[in-house]
Parts: sequence; structure tokens; C-alpha cells
Amino acid sequence: MGTYLRPASLERALAALADRPLAILAGGTDFYPARVGRLVEEDVLDITAVAELRGIREANGRIRIGAATTWTELIETPLPRQLDCLKLAAREVGGAQIQNSGTIAGNLCNASPAADGVPALLALDAEVELRAASRSRTLPLGEFVLGNRKTACAPDELVTAVLVPKWGERARSAFVKLGARKYLVISIAMVAAAVDVAADGAIRRCGIAVGACSAAGRRLPVLEQELVGHKLGPGLAELVAPRHLAPLAPISDVRGTAEYRSDAALALIRRALARLANE
Ligand SMILES: Cc1cc2nc3c(=O)[nH]c(=O)nc-3n(C[C@H](O)[C@H](O)[C@H](O)COP(=O)(O)OP(=O)(O)OC[C@H]3O[C@@H](n4cnc5c(N)ncnc54)[C@H](O)[C@@H]3O)c2cc1C
Repeated sequence: MGTYLRPASLERALAALADRPLAILAGGTDFYPARVGRLVEEDVLDITAVAELRGIREANGRIRIGAATTWTELIETPLPRQLDCLKLAAREVGGAQIQNSGTIAGNLCNASPAADGVPALLALDAEVELRAASRSRTLPLGEFVLGNRKTACAPDELVTAVLVPKWGERARSAFVKLGARKYLVISIAMVAAAVDVAADGAIRRCGIAVGACSAAGRRLPVLEQELVGHKLGPGLAELVAPRHLAPLAPISDVRGTAEYRSDAALALIRRALARLANE
């Protein structure tokens, strides 16, 4: 095995990354499965002791979720209903043991097309905060996850937080996942839908994102624009049409055909909107 570092501060972690290439280790639930059957030969930077990377707080109109926040911490933290889609996604990531170790940033950085956190955070207009020893930047999530296992994270950078802008008091969201069985399953397709509604019930802001139907999760901007102005109610699901799926590029694999994925995506979007309307 190479060197194993477990710094207790962000400053030390970033200094180590500036010094030489290191494989970043958080919960390890993607890291180790990617190395089954071989020794860990890279030099490793374990970030689990960096307190600055944990916790959820509100600042400057945004919910700031520390990069090393686990799915369990997310589920257990009281949050505005706007973030329900993220909590529902968190409950679907593996089982309890995976949720206890797996982190939000690990899910984004691993950049699997089936990462459950991605559509939820895309629908919420989330941004990713990145830091290196002498610089920092913030990217919209859609510009951070670039494709299958591909992100914009530079070798000397760490994701330090995920930032979710706070919408209005009446904002709410839903997440629906389809797998081959109910629990512990990789998604065939999943949908997150987030809306902010005016006092009269009209949608004034909307995010709809689909996962596992493209190399990375995708928003559906045409559908979002067409939903704005409509009242949140039972008729909403009927506005969803196959043409709205144009940004997706589903593939056929062991879990389902491209056609099945498209059908599933449509059904899940309608279901997510119906759930929002029924609340
Ligand atoms: C049995 C099982 C079931 C699973 N089920 C699901 C599921 O249903 N849905 C789902 O979406 N995922 C699932 N996963 C995948 C995994 O649990 C999640 O993606 C988890 O959130 C990864 O987080 P982690 O902290 O364990 O990441 P790690 O494994 O520690 O790291 C993952 C990658 O991200 C990088 N990384 C981690 N943190 C940072 C950071 N702060 N900055 C820069 N790079 C970083 C690492 O270098 C590595 O490349 C499952 C995994 C297992 C083993």
C-alpha cells in the first residue's frame, strides 16, 4: 500500500493535495468496490477526520451541506420541504450501512449515471463548492458532473460542500426511483421534481431532473418552462409528453432497454408531479 494520510483539518488536507496526487477516500462505498481483487497501491487521502467537511447549516440564503455529510446525517437533519427529494434519494442509496458511511460528495464525485443524489440536487439548482490550497470556486452541479465517471474536479481540488439555494416557504419536491426490486438496487431510472409555488398555487419555479437515462443526470428545461404558471394540481401530469425527454440519451443494458427507460422516465415524471400535487 502507498502512503495513508488522515488529516484533521481542511488546511492540511489541501496542503497534502497540493504536494502530490492522492486518491481521495470518504465513506469508501464506491472507492473500495472499484478496487476489488487488488491492493490499494495509490497514496490515499482519507478525509473522514476533517470536521470542516461535515454538517448542514443555512448561510446566505442557501443550505450548505458539508461534502463528507453522510446520507444518514442528511435523513436525520430537519430541512425545509424543498429538500424532500434529496432526503428521499438518501433513503434509496443502498441500505442502512451504506447510508451510514456513504457521503453526498462521494456520490457526486464518483459520477455514476445511476447516482441517486445527482437528479435530486440538479432539480434543486445545487452548486458544488471546490477548494484547492490557494483557490476556490463554485460550479453549478450540471457543470461539475461532466459524464460517466467524469467530473470537473482537478487533481489538487477537494469538493468541500454542496450548496442548495433556498426557494420560497411553499417550495416542495419529490423523488421517485425505479429499480428491479424495492430495496438495495441500482436505478433503472429515477426522477426528482422540485417546485416553488405562489400563494394562489401557481408554479413559479420548477426543476425536473432524470437520472440513469444519460451519461449523467439531466434537467428537462422545456418541460420546466411549460409547467411554470400552471396550478399545482391533478392535471399537471397530463402536460408531460415524450418530446420533453429530448435531452435524455438512454442506453440499453442489463437493467433495461433504452425504450423501457424512456417509458419509465415519463411514468416517473408524471408520478412525481402527481405526488407533489397530492400533498
Ligand atoms: C452495496 C452498495 C449499494 C449502493 N447503492 C447505491 C444506490 O442505491 N444509489 C447510489 O446512488 N449509490 C449507491 N452506492 C454507491 C455509493 O454508496 C454512493 O455513491 C456514496 O454516496 C459514495 O460516497 P462515499 O463517501 O462512500 O464515496 P467514496 O467511495 O469514498 O468516494 C467515491 C469517489 O469520490 C471521490 N471523493 C469522495 N469525496 C470527495 C471529495 N470531497 N472531493 C473530491 N473527491 C471525492 C473519491 O476519490 C472516489 O473517487 C452503493 C454502493 C454499495 C457498495
